[in-house]
Amino acid sequence: MGFLKKEVTAETFFQAIAERLNEEDQALIKRAYKVAEKTHANQKRYSGEPYIIHPVNVAYILNDLRQEPAVVAAGLLHDVIEDTSYSREDMTLDFGKDITKLVEGVTKMSKVKNKTRMNFESIAAENLRRMLMATAKDPRIIVIKLADKTHNMRTLKFHKPEKQKIIAQETLSIYAPLAGRLGVYKIKSELEDLAFQILEPEEYQDIKEKVAAKKAERDSFIETAKIIIKQRLAEINLDVQIEGRSKHFYSIYKKMKDKDKNFDEINDLRAVRIITKEVRDCYGVFGVVHSIWTPVPGKFKDYIATPKTNQYQSLHTAVIGQDGRSFEIQIRTQEMNNIAEHGIAAHWAYKEGTNSKDVSMTAKWIERIRHWSETSSGSDSKEFLEDLTHELHEDEVYVFTPKGDIYNFPKGSTILDYAFRIHTDVGLHAKGARISGRMVPLRTELKSGDQIEVVTDKKVKPSPIWLRIVRTSSAKQKLRQYFRKIQDETANDVSVSYVAKLPSEPVPEIDLTTLKKVKPDKKKNKEKREVSIVVAGIKDILVRLSSCCSPLPGDEIIGFITRGRGVSVHKSNCDIARNHSDKKRIVAVRWDGVNNPVPVRIEVKAYDRQGIYLEMVESISKTETNILEAGASSSGEGTLLARFLIEIEHLDQLQEILDNIRSIKNILFAERVVEK
Ligand code: MN
Repeated sequence: MGFLKKEVTAETFFQAIAERLNEEDQALIKRAYKVAEKTHANQKRYSGEPYIIHPVNVAYILNDLRQEPAVVAAGLLHDVIEDTSYSREDMTLDFGKDITKLVEGVTKMSKVKNKTRMNFESIAAENLRRMLMATAKDPRIIVIKLADKTHNMRTLKFHKPEKQKIIAQETLSIYAPLAGRLGVYKIKSELEDLAFQILEPEEYQDIKEKVAAKKAERDSFIETAKIIIKQRLAEINLDVQIEGRSKHFYSIYKKMKDKDKNFDEINDLRAVRIITKEVRDCYGVFGVVHSIWTPVPGKFKDYIATPKTNQYQSLHTAVIGQDGRSFEIQIRTQEMNNIAEHGIAAHWAYKEGTNSKDVSMTAKWIERIRHWSETSSGSDSKEFLEDLTHELHEDEVYVFTPKGDIYNFPKGSTILDYAFRIHTDVGLHAKGARISGRMVPLRTELKSGDQIEVVTDKKVKPSPIWLRIVRTSSAKQKLRQYFRKIQDETANDVSVSYVAKLPSEPVPEIDLTTLKKVKPDKKKNKEKREVSIVVAGIKDILVRLSSCCSPLPGDEIIGFITRGRGVSVHKSNCDIARNHSDKKRIVAVRWDGVNNPVPVRIEVKAYDRQGIYLEMVESISKTETNILEAGASSSGEGTLLARFLIEIEHLDQLQEILDNIRSIKNILFAERVVEK
């Protein structure tokens, strides 16, 4: 399939709307066209063409996505307020509040681009945030933006090469996945191929040629397959529509890269799609195709019973074809097919006809976006973008609550993500979970089909290492909020909570600001491990972890103001610090956020048996901890003494490692070793 769509003329556009809309709706769109044509009259595109060609094409795409007349009209008018003297008031008078609101929504999204002082990353983040806020307000706005982006991508060749690359990259990392997330696959594949062509021109050309070379062979195979299916289904009086389809270039490229295969090894370039009238026919057809050809194990997916978040529904399978090579089969109803091509856009177009369950899946996603955009402040934009783009690119897993409610998560999400999705409080106090009667730890990855019961404990409090356990942006955000709250509450707290066990006067008389670190030399800092500790509410004070008790992030700590070497930090129960004669030098300190890892030595003694050492190593690396050094020696009487130096980010992590090791059979003890 030659994928890249050509620009259309105003004439073609009017033909297209005449085929779909009634006279009255067409009149509205013609009025919008007149205003756009007049107001953009003196403007040109980079291509040198009259500007009006852009809004016309945007509106054409929106019509193609079966958007309602107001949205198509807004497409024609989308650049008018921003670029011409025609005002918001003019538009409200001429076209009413609804269309004006849509155009304003699109206008607001593009404003941030003008701030040239921002770097690319923050512009992209800010664009995305604005886009999502607009989506939350009215999802139709984002469909217009995606149509706008699609036409701009088609005409990108008129920009400078460097600019092309930046725009293509942004398209690939944000707009295309967003289109996918909203289920508008038509737009998603086109955006991906357009960006791919610019970012990897040689690979693009290569795949294009190879696809073209095998076209005749593929077509004849698919024709034969279609005839075979039709015949067999006619025998049982099932009437279906069958289409051959091919992957778009970028998805072939991605598959080759992800699976490390060459072009000839990609065998699902050939696929057929069978479209039925009724849902139950889908399963009937499924049975029939499996009786004709041998199914490929592990390829069956039932997205009818469990639709994707974007409402995509279909049965997928792969079978060994008549030539002994596999091909893909998708089976779905006409309505499912509409949704697959047009995404949630299709739903607004057929509001009356849709069932409420499907709509609520989208509503849920929009609800989540709304929540993100409301709870993250401007400075969070970058974090937000990272979280979200990560999530947009993930595949999904589906899990169940004990009651049977279904939730979906990006692949790689953990029990902790699930706990936060159930309720923030459940997340904040999660201890583990029960899956089919078995207790599993928080970091356990979710698998499709798991039925999960979270176990909570009031005594449990979030640990900074949880930020590494969660994968979803919403859970990360809830955790960050929690830590920020804790920090705010204790920011200027020089009170005794950290030093409760001390005799008296924890507030020092020494001016702490004299201990401020000299402006850090960047190079030096990189090499040296930095600990972030707040001293009496002040950051950036020169601190060092004392070697007598080697405190770990998470330990209760106190500070001791040394003469000339900053503040030395001890565990709060360290005798050396507690018994110091000069109590005035003791100061309240606390860990600040997530710290860089600290090397910690542990010792394990066990009855020696085959494989036990490996089990220890495995139980450490399971917690995603770096092992810096490892060694073991026989310690007589059939016992083994193992020593590890591991990088620990937080006390909780050490606890998890020790617990893991202690649960191994034949372990005598596992302890942290403090070297004097
Ligand atoms: Mn535009």
